[in-house]
Amino acid sequence: MPIATVNPANGETLRTFEELGAEEIERRLAAAASAFRDYRTTDLSERARLLNRAADLLEEDQESIARTMTTEMGKPLAAARAEAAKCVKAMRWYAAHAAELLADEHPPQTEVADSGAALARVRYRPLGVVLAVMPWNFPLWQVVRFAAPALMAGNTGLLKHASNVPQTALYLGDLFRRAGFPEGCFQTLLVGSRAVEGILRDPRVAAATLTGSEPAGRSVAAIAGDEVKKTVLELGGSDPFVVMPSADLERAVRTAVTARVQNNGQSCIAAKRFIVHADVHDAFVERFTARMAGLTVGDPMADTTDVGPLASEQGRADLEELVDDAVRRGATALCGGQRPKDLPQGWFYEPTVLTGITPDMRIHREEAFGPVATVYRVGDVDEAVELANDTPFGLSSNVWTADVAEQERFARDIEAGGVFFNGMTASHPALPFGGVKRSGYGRELSGHGIKEFCNVTTVWHGAEPAQGA
Ligand code: NAP
Repeated sequence: MPIATVNPANGETLRTFEELGAEEIERRLAAAASAFRDYRTTDLSERARLLNRAADLLEEDQESIARTMTTEMGKPLAAARAEAAKCVKAMRWYAAHAAELLADEHPPQTEVADSGAALARVRYRPLGVVLAVMPWNFPLWQVVRFAAPALMAGNTGLLKHASNVPQTALYLGDLFRRAGFPEGCFQTLLVGSRAVEGILRDPRVAAATLTGSEPAGRSVAAIAGDEVKKTVLELGGSDPFVVMPSADLERAVRTAVTARVQNNGQSCIAAKRFIVHADVHDAFVERFTARMAGLTVGDPMADTTDVGPLASEQGRADLEELVDDAVRRGATALCGGQRPKDLPQGWFYEPTVLTGITPDMRIHREEAFGPVATVYRVGDVDEAVELANDTPFGLSSNVWTADVAEQERFARDIEAGGVFFNGMTASHPALPFGGVKRSGYGRELSGHGIKEFCNVTTVWHGAEPAQGA
Protein backbone atom coordinates (compact mmCIF):
# COMPACT_ATOMS: atom_id res chain seq x y z
CA MET A 1 0.00 0.00 0.00
CA PRO A 2 1.50 3.40 -0.94
CA ILE A 3 2.09 5.82 1.91
CA ALA A 4 -0.27 8.61 0.98
CA THR A 5 -3.03 10.94 2.08
CA VAL A 6 -6.07 10.16 -0.07
CA ASN A 7 -9.25 12.04 0.85
CA PRO A 8 -11.94 9.35 1.27
CA ALA A 9 -14.69 11.92 0.73
CA ASN A 10 -13.70 12.32 -2.93
CA GLY A 11 -10.89 9.84 -3.67
CA GLU A 12 -8.38 12.60 -4.38
CA THR A 13 -4.69 11.85 -3.65
CA LEU A 14 -3.43 14.87 -1.75
CA ARG A 15 0.13 13.88 -0.81
CA THR A 16 2.38 10.89 -1.27
CA PHE A 17 5.43 10.03 0.83
CA GLU A 18 8.62 8.05 0.24
CA GLU A 19 9.10 5.04 2.51
CA LEU A 20 12.15 5.21 4.76
CA GLY A 21 15.12 3.29 3.38
CA ALA A 22 17.19 0.71 5.26
CA GLU A 23 19.83 3.24 6.28
CA GLU A 24 17.33 5.64 7.80
CA ILE A 25 15.54 2.81 9.63
CA GLU A 26 18.90 1.74 11.06
CA ARG A 27 19.67 5.30 12.16
CA ARG A 28 16.34 5.56 13.98
CA LEU A 29 16.67 2.16 15.63
CA ALA A 30 20.08 3.22 16.92
CA ALA A 31 18.63 6.51 18.15
CA ALA A 32 15.78 4.73 19.97
CA ALA A 33 18.18 2.31 21.69
CA SER A 34 20.62 5.06 22.59
CA ALA A 35 17.83 7.28 23.95
CA PHE A 36 16.61 4.42 26.14
CA ARG A 37 19.96 4.13 27.93
CA ASP A 38 19.54 7.56 29.54
CA TYR A 39 15.80 8.04 29.42
CA ARG A 40 15.13 4.90 31.48
CA THR A 41 16.68 6.55 34.53
CA THR A 42 14.92 9.93 34.27
CA ASP A 43 12.72 10.93 37.18
CA LEU A 44 9.02 10.28 36.80
CA SER A 45 8.45 13.96 37.59
CA GLU A 46 10.56 14.93 34.56
CA ARG A 47 8.69 12.48 32.32
CA ALA A 48 5.41 13.90 33.60
CA ARG A 49 6.58 17.44 32.84
CA LEU A 50 7.36 16.45 29.24
CA LEU A 51 4.08 14.58 28.79
CA ASN A 52 2.09 17.50 30.16
CA ARG A 53 3.93 19.76 27.73
CA ALA A 54 2.95 17.41 24.87
CA ALA A 55 -0.66 17.59 26.09
CA ASP A 56 -0.54 21.40 26.08
CA LEU A 57 0.83 21.44 22.53
CA LEU A 58 -1.81 18.99 21.33
CA GLU A 59 -4.50 21.13 22.94
CA GLU A 60 -3.21 24.15 20.99
CA ASP A 61 -3.16 22.10 17.77
CA GLN A 62 -6.61 20.57 18.27
CA GLU A 63 -8.30 22.17 15.29
CA SER A 64 -5.52 21.64 12.76
CA ILE A 65 -4.82 18.02 13.70
CA ALA A 66 -8.56 17.28 13.74
CA ARG A 67 -8.80 18.58 10.16
CA THR A 68 -5.80 16.47 9.16
CA MET A 69 -7.41 13.33 10.60
CA THR A 70 -10.73 14.03 8.88
CA THR A 71 -8.96 14.64 5.58
CA GLU A 72 -6.92 11.45 5.87
CA MET A 73 -9.57 8.98 7.06
CA GLY A 74 -12.97 10.66 6.86
CA LYS A 75 -14.27 10.78 10.43
CA PRO A 76 -16.69 13.65 11.09
CA LEU A 77 -14.76 16.73 12.17
CA ALA A 78 -16.55 16.96 15.53
CA ALA A 79 -15.42 13.41 16.31
CA ALA A 80 -11.86 14.27 15.31
CA ARG A 81 -11.86 17.26 17.66
CA ALA A 82 -13.20 15.04 20.45
CA GLU A 83 -10.47 12.48 19.74
CA ALA A 84 -7.75 15.11 20.12
CA ALA A 85 -9.31 16.29 23.41
CA LYS A 86 -9.44 12.72 24.69
CA CYS A 87 -5.73 12.31 23.95
CA VAL A 88 -4.94 15.46 25.93
CA LYS A 89 -6.90 14.04 28.85
CA ALA A 90 -5.13 10.67 28.71
CA MET A 91 -1.70 12.28 28.59
CA ARG A 92 -2.50 14.39 31.64
CA TRP A 93 -3.97 11.36 33.40
CA TYR A 94 -0.81 9.30 32.97
CA ALA A 95 1.39 12.28 33.86
CA ALA A 96 -0.58 12.62 37.11
CA HIS A 97 -0.90 8.93 38.01
CA ALA A 98 2.19 7.09 36.72
CA ALA A 99 4.20 7.56 39.92
CA GLU A 100 1.50 5.94 42.00
CA LEU A 101 0.82 3.19 39.42
CA LEU A 102 4.51 2.29 39.18
CA ALA A 103 5.40 2.66 42.85
CA ASP A 104 7.36 -0.24 44.34
CA GLU A 105 5.13 -2.89 45.88
CA HIS A 106 6.05 -4.31 49.27
CA PRO A 107 4.54 -7.74 49.92
CA PRO A 108 3.90 -8.25 53.65
CA GLN A 109 7.11 -9.33 55.39
CA THR A 110 5.25 -12.22 57.01
CA GLU A 111 4.58 -13.58 53.51
CA VAL A 112 8.10 -13.20 52.07
CA ALA A 113 10.07 -14.28 55.16
CA ASP A 114 9.49 -17.86 54.07
CA SER A 115 11.68 -17.17 50.99
CA GLY A 116 14.55 -16.24 53.30
CA ALA A 117 14.15 -12.54 52.61
CA ALA A 118 14.87 -9.89 55.16
CA LEU A 119 13.10 -7.58 52.73
CA ALA A 120 11.56 -8.00 49.30
CA ARG A 121 9.80 -5.65 46.93
CA VAL A 122 8.48 -5.55 43.39
CA ARG A 123 9.87 -2.85 41.14
CA TYR A 124 8.48 -1.83 37.73
CA ARG A 125 11.30 -1.12 35.30
CA PRO A 126 10.96 -0.27 31.60
CA LEU A 127 11.51 -2.91 28.95
CA GLY A 128 13.26 -0.84 26.28
CA VAL A 129 12.38 0.12 22.71
CA VAL A 130 8.75 -0.74 21.93
CA LEU A 131 7.46 -0.95 18.36
CA ALA A 132 3.87 0.23 17.91
CA VAL A 133 2.01 -0.88 14.76
CA MET A 134 -1.13 1.21 14.64
CA PRO A 135 -4.38 1.53 12.64
CA TRP A 136 -5.98 4.51 10.94
CA ASN A 137 -9.41 4.48 12.57
CA PHE A 138 -8.47 6.53 15.66
CA PRO A 139 -5.16 7.77 14.29
CA LEU A 140 -4.27 9.93 17.29
CA TRP A 141 -5.94 8.03 20.11
CA GLN A 142 -4.57 4.58 19.33
CA VAL A 143 -1.05 5.97 19.36
CA VAL A 144 -1.43 8.16 22.43
CA ARG A 145 -2.95 5.41 24.52
CA PHE A 146 0.21 3.40 23.85
CA ALA A 147 2.72 6.25 23.92
CA ALA A 148 1.63 8.04 27.11
CA PRO A 149 1.99 5.03 29.45
CA ALA A 150 4.99 3.59 27.60
CA LEU A 151 6.93 6.86 27.86
CA MET A 152 5.89 7.40 31.48
CA ALA A 153 7.23 3.93 32.30
CA GLY A 154 10.61 4.90 30.79
CA ASN A 155 10.42 3.06 27.46
CA THR A 156 11.16 4.59 24.09
CA GLY A 157 8.78 4.16 21.15
CA LEU A 158 8.88 3.56 17.41
CA LEU A 159 5.63 4.19 15.56
CA LYS A 160 4.72 2.35 12.36
CA HIS A 161 1.39 3.92 11.60
CA ALA A 162 -1.14 2.85 8.96
CA SER A 163 -0.07 3.86 5.46
CA ASN A 164 -3.15 6.03 4.86
CA VAL A 165 -2.52 8.44 7.77
CA PRO A 166 1.06 9.62 7.15
CA GLN A 167 0.46 13.25 8.08
CA THR A 168 -1.06 12.31 11.43
CA ALA A 169 1.86 9.91 11.95
CA LEU A 170 4.43 12.62 11.27
CA TYR A 171 2.55 15.03 13.51
CA LEU A 172 2.82 12.58 16.42
CA GLY A 173 6.59 12.11 16.07
CA ASP A 174 6.97 15.86 15.93
CA LEU A 175 4.67 16.44 18.91
CA PHE A 176 6.80 14.47 21.36
CA ARG A 177 10.00 16.03 19.98
CA ARG A 178 8.57 19.56 20.34
CA ALA A 179 7.47 18.74 23.89
CA GLY A 180 11.13 18.19 24.75
CA PHE A 181 11.41 14.40 24.96
CA PRO A 182 15.08 13.58 24.29
CA GLU A 183 16.06 12.80 20.70
CA GLY A 184 15.07 9.22 19.82
CA CYS A 185 12.49 8.77 22.60
CA PHE A 186 9.54 8.65 20.23
CA GLN A 187 9.94 8.43 16.47
CA THR A 188 7.64 7.90 13.53
CA LEU A 189 8.85 5.49 10.86
CA LEU A 190 7.12 5.99 7.53
CA VAL A 191 7.32 2.39 6.39
CA GLY A 192 4.94 -0.15 4.92
CA SER A 193 3.91 -3.34 6.67
CA ARG A 194 6.65 -5.36 4.93
CA ALA A 195 9.29 -3.49 6.94
CA VAL A 196 7.76 -4.57 10.26
CA GLU A 197 9.42 -7.98 10.40
CA GLY A 198 12.98 -6.63 10.11
CA ILE A 199 12.36 -3.97 12.75
CA LEU A 200 10.70 -6.40 15.14
CA ARG A 201 13.50 -8.95 14.78
CA ASP A 202 16.14 -6.32 15.51
CA PRO A 203 17.72 -7.14 18.89
CA ARG A 204 17.39 -3.50 19.96
CA VAL A 205 13.59 -3.79 19.89
CA ALA A 206 12.28 -5.30 23.12
CA ALA A 207 8.55 -5.61 22.50
CA ALA A 208 5.67 -4.71 20.22
CA THR A 209 2.08 -3.61 20.40
CA LEU A 210 -0.29 -3.91 17.47
CA THR A 211 -3.77 -2.55 17.08
CA GLY A 212 -5.42 -3.66 13.88
CA SER A 213 -6.86 -6.63 12.07
CA GLU A 214 -6.55 -10.27 13.02
CA PRO A 215 -4.21 -11.19 10.12
CA ALA A 216 -1.83 -8.35 10.99
CA GLY A 217 -1.91 -9.34 14.66
CA ARG A 218 -1.27 -12.97 13.89
CA SER A 219 1.73 -12.08 11.73
CA VAL A 220 3.32 -9.75 14.28
CA ALA A 221 2.66 -12.14 17.16
CA ALA A 222 4.24 -15.02 15.22
CA ILE A 223 7.41 -13.05 14.56
CA ALA A 224 7.55 -11.78 18.13
CA GLY A 225 6.97 -15.32 19.39
CA ASP A 226 9.85 -16.54 17.28
CA GLU A 227 12.03 -13.83 18.83
CA VAL A 228 10.55 -14.38 22.32
CA LYS A 229 9.43 -10.78 22.60
CA LYS A 230 6.46 -9.48 24.55
CA THR A 231 3.40 -8.35 22.55
CA VAL A 232 0.07 -6.71 23.23
CA LEU A 233 -2.60 -7.24 20.56
CA GLU A 234 -5.75 -5.16 20.21
CA LEU A 235 -7.61 -6.69 17.29
CA GLY A 236 -11.09 -6.71 15.85
CA GLY A 237 -14.42 -6.94 17.58
CA SER A 238 -18.04 -7.77 16.90
CA ASP A 239 -19.52 -6.52 20.13
CA PRO A 240 -23.05 -7.54 21.13
CA PHE A 241 -25.62 -4.95 22.20
CA VAL A 242 -28.23 -6.83 24.21
CA VAL A 243 -31.63 -5.29 24.97
CA MET A 244 -33.78 -6.97 27.63
CA PRO A 245 -37.44 -6.17 28.47
CA SER A 246 -36.61 -3.98 31.49
CA ALA A 247 -34.41 -1.64 29.42
CA ASP A 248 -35.19 2.03 28.95
CA LEU A 249 -36.02 1.47 25.29
CA GLU A 250 -35.77 5.05 24.08
CA ARG A 251 -32.29 5.49 25.57
CA ALA A 252 -31.25 2.07 24.33
CA VAL A 253 -32.31 2.93 20.77
CA ARG A 254 -30.55 6.30 20.78
CA THR A 255 -27.38 4.76 22.18
CA ALA A 256 -27.56 1.83 19.78
CA VAL A 257 -27.41 4.20 16.81
CA THR A 258 -24.41 6.09 18.20
CA ALA A 259 -22.70 2.86 19.22
CA ARG A 260 -23.06 1.47 15.70
CA VAL A 261 -22.20 4.50 13.57
CA GLN A 262 -19.54 6.22 15.70
CA ASN A 263 -16.46 6.84 13.57
CA ASN A 264 -18.51 5.98 10.46
CA GLY A 265 -18.99 2.50 11.90
CA GLN A 266 -15.26 1.79 11.87
CA SER A 267 -14.54 1.23 15.54
CA CYS A 268 -13.34 -2.01 17.09
CA ILE A 269 -15.68 -1.40 20.05
CA ALA A 270 -18.67 -0.36 17.98
CA ALA A 271 -21.76 -2.38 18.81
CA LYS A 272 -22.25 -4.58 15.76
CA ARG A 273 -24.73 -7.30 16.70
CA PHE A 274 -28.02 -6.20 18.28
CA ILE A 275 -29.55 -9.01 20.32
CA VAL A 276 -33.06 -8.06 21.36
CA HIS A 277 -35.55 -9.85 23.63
CA ALA A 278 -38.77 -10.86 21.83
CA ASP A 279 -40.90 -8.68 24.16
CA VAL A 280 -39.26 -5.49 22.90
CA HIS A 281 -37.85 -6.67 19.58
CA ASP A 282 -40.40 -5.15 17.20
CA ALA A 283 -40.53 -1.80 18.99
CA PHE A 284 -36.72 -1.65 19.10
CA VAL A 285 -36.32 -2.55 15.43
CA GLU A 286 -38.90 0.00 14.30
CA ARG A 287 -37.32 2.88 16.20
CA PHE A 288 -33.74 1.82 15.51
CA THR A 289 -34.34 1.49 11.77
CA ALA A 290 -36.10 4.86 11.60
CA ARG A 291 -33.16 6.56 13.30
CA MET A 292 -30.51 4.76 11.22
CA ALA A 293 -32.35 5.67 8.01
CA GLY A 294 -32.62 9.29 9.15
CA LEU A 295 -28.86 9.84 9.62
CA THR A 296 -27.14 12.40 7.42
CA VAL A 297 -24.40 10.87 5.31
CA GLY A 298 -21.99 13.25 3.62
CA ASP A 299 -19.01 15.59 3.83
CA PRO A 300 -17.18 14.79 7.08
CA MET A 301 -16.06 18.42 7.38
CA ALA A 302 -19.71 19.59 7.64
CA ASP A 303 -21.20 20.07 11.12
CA THR A 304 -24.47 18.51 9.96
CA THR A 305 -22.91 15.18 8.96
CA ASP A 306 -23.53 12.11 11.11
CA VAL A 307 -21.73 9.56 8.95
CA GLY A 308 -18.80 10.28 6.65
CA PRO A 309 -17.17 8.02 4.06
CA LEU A 310 -15.40 4.77 4.83
CA ALA A 311 -11.66 5.25 5.04
CA SER A 312 -10.76 3.33 1.89
CA GLU A 313 -12.27 1.96 -1.28
CA GLN A 314 -11.20 -1.53 -0.22
CA GLY A 315 -12.89 -1.09 3.17
CA ARG A 316 -16.17 -0.25 1.45
CA ALA A 317 -15.82 -3.17 -0.97
CA ASP A 318 -15.25 -5.55 1.98
CA LEU A 319 -18.36 -4.23 3.74
CA GLU A 320 -20.46 -4.50 0.58
CA GLU A 321 -19.41 -8.12 0.17
CA LEU A 322 -20.55 -8.93 3.72
CA VAL A 323 -23.95 -7.29 3.19
CA ASP A 324 -24.46 -8.82 -0.26
CA ASP A 325 -23.57 -12.27 1.05
CA ALA A 326 -26.12 -11.92 3.88
CA VAL A 327 -28.89 -10.69 1.56
CA ARG A 328 -28.15 -13.47 -0.94
CA ARG A 329 -28.57 -15.99 1.86
CA GLY A 330 -31.92 -14.57 2.96
CA ALA A 331 -31.27 -11.54 5.21
CA THR A 332 -33.49 -8.48 4.83
CA ALA A 333 -32.11 -4.93 4.66
CA LEU A 334 -34.66 -2.81 6.54
CA CYS A 335 -32.74 0.27 5.45
CA GLY A 336 -29.58 0.97 3.47
CA GLY A 337 -27.70 -1.92 1.93
CA GLN A 338 -26.18 0.23 -0.80
CA ARG A 339 -24.10 3.27 -1.72
CA PRO A 340 -25.94 6.60 -1.41
CA LYS A 341 -26.99 7.63 -4.90
CA ASP A 342 -26.43 11.33 -4.25
CA LEU A 343 -22.76 10.82 -3.31
CA PRO A 344 -21.16 9.26 -6.40
CA GLN A 345 -17.62 10.28 -5.39
CA GLY A 346 -15.92 9.09 -2.24
CA TRP A 347 -16.38 5.84 -0.34
CA PHE A 348 -19.77 6.34 1.27
CA TYR A 349 -22.17 3.60 2.37
CA GLU A 350 -25.70 3.96 3.68
CA PRO A 351 -26.43 3.13 7.32
CA THR A 352 -27.89 -0.35 7.12
CA VAL A 353 -30.03 -2.55 9.37
CA LEU A 354 -30.13 -6.28 8.57
CA THR A 355 -32.53 -8.84 10.04
CA GLY A 356 -33.03 -12.55 9.42
CA ILE A 357 -29.37 -13.33 10.11
CA THR A 358 -28.43 -17.02 10.11
CA PRO A 359 -25.15 -18.69 11.14
CA ASP A 360 -24.21 -19.52 7.54
CA MET A 361 -23.87 -15.82 6.69
CA ARG A 362 -20.37 -14.37 6.82
CA ILE A 363 -21.60 -11.34 8.73
CA HIS A 364 -22.63 -13.62 11.61
CA ARG A 365 -18.96 -14.43 12.27
CA GLU A 366 -16.99 -11.60 10.68
CA GLU A 367 -16.55 -8.01 11.76
CA ALA A 368 -18.66 -5.47 9.81
CA PHE A 369 -16.32 -2.47 9.72
CA GLY A 370 -18.80 0.20 8.64
CA PRO A 371 -22.33 1.45 9.46
CA VAL A 372 -24.07 -1.93 9.21
CA ALA A 373 -26.08 -3.42 12.09
CA THR A 374 -27.38 -6.97 12.39
CA VAL A 375 -30.43 -7.55 14.61
CA TYR A 376 -31.35 -10.85 16.27
CA ARG A 377 -34.43 -11.86 18.28
CA VAL A 378 -33.98 -13.95 21.46
CA GLY A 379 -36.43 -15.49 23.93
CA ASP A 380 -34.55 -15.31 27.24
CA VAL A 381 -31.29 -14.57 29.05
CA ASP A 382 -29.75 -17.94 28.22
CA GLU A 383 -30.27 -17.41 24.52
CA ALA A 384 -28.96 -13.85 24.75
CA VAL A 385 -25.75 -14.97 26.47
CA GLU A 386 -25.26 -17.82 24.04
CA LEU A 387 -25.67 -15.59 21.00
CA ALA A 388 -23.51 -12.83 22.51
CA ASN A 389 -20.71 -15.41 22.83
CA ASP A 390 -21.30 -16.98 19.42
CA THR A 391 -18.47 -15.04 17.78
CA PRO A 392 -14.74 -15.51 17.39
CA PHE A 393 -14.25 -12.08 18.99
CA GLY A 394 -14.38 -10.95 22.62
CA LEU A 395 -13.58 -7.26 22.84
CA SER A 396 -16.46 -5.64 24.73
CA SER A 397 -20.23 -5.86 25.13
CA ASN A 398 -23.22 -3.67 25.96
CA VAL A 399 -26.24 -4.87 27.90
CA TRP A 400 -29.45 -2.96 28.54
CA THR A 401 -31.35 -4.25 31.54
CA ALA A 402 -32.53 -2.84 34.86
CA ASP A 403 -32.69 -6.33 36.39
CA VAL A 404 -29.86 -6.84 38.88
CA ALA A 405 -29.92 -10.63 38.62
CA GLU A 406 -29.65 -10.38 34.84
CA GLN A 407 -26.77 -7.94 35.18
CA GLU A 408 -24.90 -10.38 37.39
CA ARG A 409 -25.52 -13.16 34.89
CA PHE A 410 -24.16 -11.16 31.94
CA ALA A 411 -21.19 -9.84 33.96
CA ARG A 412 -20.31 -13.44 34.82
CA ASP A 413 -20.89 -15.11 31.46
CA ILE A 414 -20.18 -12.77 28.56
CA GLU A 415 -16.82 -13.68 27.03
CA ALA A 416 -15.34 -10.23 26.46
CA GLY A 417 -12.89 -7.74 27.96
CA GLY A 418 -15.74 -5.41 28.96
CA VAL A 419 -19.41 -5.58 29.95
CA PHE A 420 -21.09 -2.17 29.85
CA PHE A 421 -24.60 -1.92 31.32
CA ASN A 422 -27.13 0.68 30.19
CA GLY A 423 -24.55 2.65 28.27
CA MET A 424 -22.10 2.32 25.43
CA THR A 425 -18.60 0.87 25.48
CA ALA A 426 -16.02 3.63 25.57
CA SER A 427 -12.40 3.69 26.59
CA HIS A 428 -11.20 5.82 29.51
CA PRO A 429 -7.66 6.29 30.86
CA ALA A 430 -8.60 4.90 34.28
CA LEU A 431 -10.23 1.70 32.96
CA PRO A 432 -8.47 -1.28 31.39
CA PHE A 433 -9.16 -1.85 27.71
CA GLY A 434 -8.62 -5.01 25.67
CA GLY A 435 -10.12 -8.28 24.65
CA VAL A 436 -10.12 -12.05 24.75
CA LYS A 437 -10.48 -14.71 22.03
CA ARG A 438 -9.63 -13.35 18.56
CA SER A 439 -9.83 -9.78 19.83
CA GLY A 440 -6.32 -10.13 21.18
CA TYR A 441 -4.60 -10.14 24.54
CA GLY A 442 -3.02 -7.77 26.99
CA ARG A 443 -4.57 -4.54 28.22
CA GLU A 444 -4.15 -0.88 27.46
CA LEU A 445 -4.95 2.08 29.70
CA SER A 446 -5.17 2.16 33.53
CA GLY A 447 -2.50 0.57 35.72
CA HIS A 448 -2.77 -2.64 33.70
CA GLY A 449 -1.76 -0.82 30.51
CA ILE A 450 1.30 0.90 31.92
CA LYS A 451 2.60 -2.36 33.35
CA GLU A 452 2.39 -4.26 30.04
CA PHE A 453 5.72 -2.84 28.94
CA CYS A 454 7.45 -3.11 32.30
CA ASN A 455 9.92 -5.63 33.59
CA VAL A 456 8.21 -6.70 36.81
CA THR A 457 11.34 -7.12 38.90
CA THR A 458 11.65 -8.95 42.21
CA VAL A 459 14.20 -7.16 44.39
CA TRP A 460 15.18 -9.51 47.20
CA HIS A 461 17.48 -8.85 50.15
CA GLY A 462 18.94 -11.67 52.26
CA ALA A 463 19.80 -9.12 54.92
CA GLU A 464 18.36 -5.70 55.74
CA PRO A 465 20.10 -3.27 53.35
CA ALA A 466 22.27 -0.93 55.44
CA GLN A 467 22.61 2.73 54.40
CA GLY A 468 26.03 3.40 52.81
CA ALA A 469 27.30 -0.12 53.51
P1 NAP B 1 -4.73 -3.51 9.53
O1 NAP B 1 -4.86 -3.60 8.09
O2 NAP B 1 -4.41 -4.71 10.30
O3 NAP B 1 -3.62 -2.38 9.81
C1 NAP B 1 -3.22 -2.04 11.11
C2 NAP B 1 -1.73 -1.76 11.08
O4 NAP B 1 -1.04 -2.98 10.85
C3 NAP B 1 -1.29 -0.82 9.98
O5 NAP B 1 -0.21 -0.04 10.44
C4 NAP B 1 -0.83 -1.78 8.88
O6 NAP B 1 0.10 -1.21 8.01
C5 NAP B 1 -0.20 -2.87 9.70
N1 NAP B 1 -0.17 -4.17 9.08
C6 NAP B 1 -1.08 -4.73 8.24
N2 NAP B 1 -0.71 -5.98 7.91
C7 NAP B 1 0.47 -6.22 8.55
C8 NAP B 1 1.35 -7.32 8.61
N3 NAP B 1 1.10 -8.45 7.95
N4 NAP B 1 2.46 -7.22 9.35
C9 NAP B 1 2.72 -6.10 10.03
N5 NAP B 1 1.94 -5.01 10.02
C10 NAP B 1 0.81 -5.08 9.30
O7 NAP B 1 -6.02 -2.94 10.22
P2 NAP B 1 -6.84 -1.65 9.82
O8 NAP B 1 -7.65 -1.97 8.64
O9 NAP B 1 -5.93 -0.46 9.74
O10 NAP B 1 -7.73 -1.45 11.14
C11 NAP B 1 -8.94 -2.07 11.27
C12 NAP B 1 -8.88 -3.21 12.23
O11 NAP B 1 -8.30 -2.80 13.46
C13 NAP B 1 -10.27 -3.70 12.59
O12 NAP B 1 -10.29 -5.09 12.65
C14 NAP B 1 -10.49 -3.11 13.97
O13 NAP B 1 -11.44 -3.78 14.73
C15 NAP B 1 -9.13 -3.19 14.54
N6 NAP B 1 -8.98 -2.27 15.67
C16 NAP B 1 -8.87 -2.79 16.93
C17 NAP B 1 -8.78 -1.95 18.02
C18 NAP B 1 -8.67 -2.49 19.42
O14 NAP B 1 -8.32 -1.73 20.31
N7 NAP B 1 -8.94 -3.76 19.65
C19 NAP B 1 -8.79 -0.58 17.83
C20 NAP B 1 -8.90 -0.08 16.54
C21 NAP B 1 -8.98 -0.95 15.47
P3 NAP B 1 -0.34 -0.69 6.53
O15 NAP B 1 -1.34 0.38 6.72
O16 NAP B 1 0.94 -0.19 5.96
O17 NAP B 1 -0.89 -1.88 5.82
